[in-house]
Amino acid sequence: MEAYDVVIVGAGPAGLAASIKAKELGLSYAILEKGESILQGIIDSFPSGKTVYPTIPKGEPETFLIPDLEPGNEPVEAYVTKVKGCVEKYDIAVRLGEDANDLVRMEKGFKVVTSGSEYECANVVLAFGRSLPTELGVYGDAAHVHRRLDDPDQFIGKANLVIGGGNAAADIVAALSRAKRTAEDDTTVFWAHRREQFKVDKEVARDLGEEILLGGNIRILQEAVPRLGEIDKDGIERLLIGIHEIDVADGMRFHEGLSFPMNNVIACIGTQGPAAVFEKMGLEQVTADKIRSKPAKSGKEGPKLIVLRPGFHTSTEGIYAIGAAISPAYAHEGMDGKLHRRKHTDLIYTAIRDGIQAIEHIAHRNQ
Ligand SMILES: Cc1cc2nc3c(=O)[nH]c(=O)nc-3n(C[C@H](O)[C@H](O)[C@H](O)COP(=O)(O)OP(=O)(O)OC[C@H]3O[C@@H](n4cnc5c(N)ncnc54)[C@H](O)[C@@H]3O)c2cc1C
Repeated sequence: MEAYDVVIVGAGPAGLAASIKAKELGLSYAILEKGESILQGIIDSFPSGKTVYPTIPKGEPETFLIPDLEPGNEPVEAYVTKVKGCVEKYDIAVRLGEDANDLVRMEKGFKVVTSGSEYECANVVLAFGRSLPTELGVYGDAAHVHRRLDDPDQFIGKANLVIGGGNAAADIVAALSRAKRTAEDDTTVFWAHRREQFKVDKEVARDLGEEILLGGNIRILQEAVPRLGEIDKDGIERLLIGIHEIDVADGMRFHEGLSFPMNNVIACIGTQGPAAVFEKMGLEQVTADKIRSKPAKSGKEGPKLIVLRPGFHTSTEGIYAIGAAISPAYAHEGMDGKLHRRKHTDLIYTAIRDGIQAIEHIAHRNQ
């Protein structure tokens, strides 16, 4: 069996950038993608027609390290086509339908196992994104709310609720509103977030502002918390969202809320990091409280952060973790052995940069 210098798991922007760099530096590589297409993670999570922004995090150099992978404010479908062209140009052979489900340590190197094959290698780059949706955490089961927007037209004629305070939720609100406006449908898109402040990038905010100015029927609900999943008298599963509550007297509380059929709700509240997968691989992680200088106000441990050394090298020599898989933060181990929380913005720019740095690190260790 051929042993590769590196096996890259996932053909999103991070994995593709890593492959292009591996090829450029003359490393032998295999790139595995569980989906039917490259960029399957993006295809599955972006609403159709969504603009892909070339956002660069503050303080980073203003150029994309692989210009062919740079988004150009085009709709997602056009971005996917452009990246397919780039994969052809660099002649990157992505193995589609290969779901890496096990990583075995060998005497020398590793074996990455998929349902049909095994790939021996000296290094592994984990670029598998974040694919498990965060749970809504309501009493009762809320399993039937949508997690993404496949077809905005299916919601025409129905009041909708979009839950979430970030870019992904904002994009869905704008796409739904646009579809309704075009169809001359005056039903409302409610947009709820459990906090007072929404957190969106300026490009996303600009699109949403434009949609509102063009007459989009959007109603914003701040500090609105999903409370209960229930079945009504007609057998329809509904989600109750609390929008206002006050203590009245004698332990009583006054609640005001809105209830939507779950089928009209899209929860866009992010994804759970792949902590369980990292744990199974025996990669070192720490809880956020262990590296905070002050204890958290809530007293909670905080999420698990993967420990990474320079070049996105994990605690196991030869295993690297990059891209969305390590967002929104990781624990960076400096030369002094101390751990610091490092913010990792979930963007295409960051994913590409990580892929390049990880491969450069591998090439350097190989010397
Ligand atoms: C709705 C939405 C809108 C966004 N808009 C923007 C934007 O406008 N601009 C921007 O810069 N960023 C945007 N982002 C963020 C951007 O999509 C991510 O930062 C980027 O896709 C991360 O790249 P990645 O390669 O790390 O992960 P992904 O793109 O998630 O790719 C991971 C790949 O790994 C594959 N995979 C997973 N598990 C396995 C396995 N076990 N075996 C083999 N393959 C596997 C997946 O199928 C997937 O194709 C947005 C994100 C969302 C959710």
